[in-house]
Parts: sequence; C-alpha cells; structure tokens
Amino acid sequence: MKKLVCITGASSGFGMEMAKMYSEAGYPTLLLARRVDKIKAMNLSNSVAVSVDVTDYNAFQSAINLAEATYGEIDLLINNAGIMLLGNIENQNPNEWQQMLNVNIMGVLNGTQLVLDKMKTRNCGTIINVSSIAGRKTFLNHAAYVATKFGVHAMTETIRQEVSGSNVRVLVIAPGAAETELLTHVTDSNIVDGYNEWKKIMDDEKSLDPKFVALSTKFMYEMPQSVSIRELVIADTKQDA
Ligand code: NDP
Repeated sequence: MKKLVCITGASSGFGMEMAKMYSEAGYPTLLLARRVDKIKAMNLSNSVAVSVDVTDYNAFQSAINLAEATYGEIDLLINNAGIMLLGNIENQNPNEWQQMLNVNIMGVLNGTQLVLDKMKTRNCGTIINVSSIAGRKTFLNHAAYVATKFGVHAMTETIRQEVSGSNVRVLVIAPGAAETELLTHVTDSNIVDGYNEWKKIMDDEKSLDPKFVALSTKFMYEMPQSVSIRELVIADTKQDA
C-alpha cells in the first residue's frame, strides 16, 4: 500500500482532480472540504472523506487521526483549499478579506502544523501549498487575494528553510487561471464579467484544465525525496498576465 495523501478542498476544481488522480495511482487518500457529499459521490477506494472547515484546527486534527489510524501517517499534504473573493479596496466588504485570510492563510498554517512534527520525526514527508500566479505578481481588484497568496509563497519558503534539515519538502505550486468554481464566489458582477472577457484570449475561451495542475503536483511529489521542486508555475500558454 502506498503512503497516505491528504488533499484539502477536494470537493471541486483542482482538489477534485487531485483526489481522482492520486486515487487512480493507488494512493490512499484523506479528502477534506465542507461539502463532503461531493467527495463521497466520487466513490474512490481506500479513501476517507470528512467534512472539515480548514479554519477549524480541532476538526482538521480529528480527521487526520481518523485516516492515520487506518492508513498510517500522512506522507503528502496538499494545502489546496482556498477562496478568491475579488473586489476593489474602496468598496469591498471587509468580511470578504477576513474570509480569505482565514481560509487561504490560517487553513494552510493549520494543516502544516498538524502534519509537520511527524514528518520531521520520520525524516520524510512532503507538503505542497497551492498558491497562485497572484502570489508572485499583482492584479487589479485582487488586493486582499494577492495578499493571501503572496503570504502562501512566503510561508512556504520560510517553512521549507526551517525543515529542510529534516528531509521534509515544503513546495509551492502557482497556477494561472483555470476552469474551476473559484470565480463563482466573487460577489462583484462587473469584476466577474471583466475576468470572463479576459479569458477569451485563451483557446475556446477557456483557461487551464485543472487536471494539469493535479498532474503537476504528482510530478513534484513523485520525484525522489532528495529532489525539491521548490516552486512550479503553470498557466495556459495564451495567458498574458
Ligand atoms: P474551487 O472553488 O473549485 O475549489 C475550492 C475548494 O476549496 C473546494 O473544494 C472548497 O470546498 C474548498 N474550500 C473552500 N473553503 C474551505 C474551507 N473553509 N474549508 C475547507 N475547504 C474549503 O477552486 P479551485 O479548485 O480553483 O481552488 C483551489 C486552490 O487553487 C485555491 O487555493 C485557489 O486559490 C487556487 N488557485 C486557483 C486558480 C484558478 O484559476 N482556479 C488559479 C490559481 C490558484 P467546500 O466549499 O466544499 O468547502
């Protein structure tokens, strides 16, 4: 049996593609999101699905305990759960900033702390954080979102340095625009319209297929433990930004 892989945000988008891909490759999986029915509907074998809000440290911990009791310790954690609520600083509701900070930052910190100790003890393990090209460069109407994703890049590199001596890999993947549910939560319809208009520069007016993001994480993970692909940036070839 391969080692346990934990994926947050497994109920849609990148996380759902990752869940299918790792499962098909024979990895037991711990799959987390709030909408657990969507995860269970995939009917994956050797899989534990738990409804967890990644901002809830104790619930996150309990789900890990449950899966590890059957499949052994987590060897790969993909901190993928995230939300993007675009808005202009002049009128965006501060609740949206807080939600993004909670999920995109606190969620990643929670997951990381929960698996790191055991990985260090084992001298083995990998954490892949899903950031964004918006974690490397800025975009208009993305102020709070880019703040969280620059944060994901920064914390990844800090923690990578801190645990490198324990042979634990802490990696970041930075995707460009992709076809997921991410944009559907944006409340400003003008911003959504502008985003969709911009996407028309890409083939079939669609951006990157999420399966290539899933495949990229698998490539990063399946390198020998001694090889650290610290950052992987992936986008549709025709994405101009
Ligand atoms: P989706 O909206 O399709 O998926 C987001 C996932 O995160 C869902 O499974 C959702 O599950 C989960 N999630 C959201 N909030 C929470 C929470 N509080 N607790 C647990 N799970 C949560 O978007 P993507 O697949 O696109 O997003 C995945 C990651 O990729 C995010 O970090 C995003 O920022 C990043 N990204 C996306 C890009 C894109 O263009 N799509 C580009 C670059 C980066 P549920 O609602 O069931 O809890």
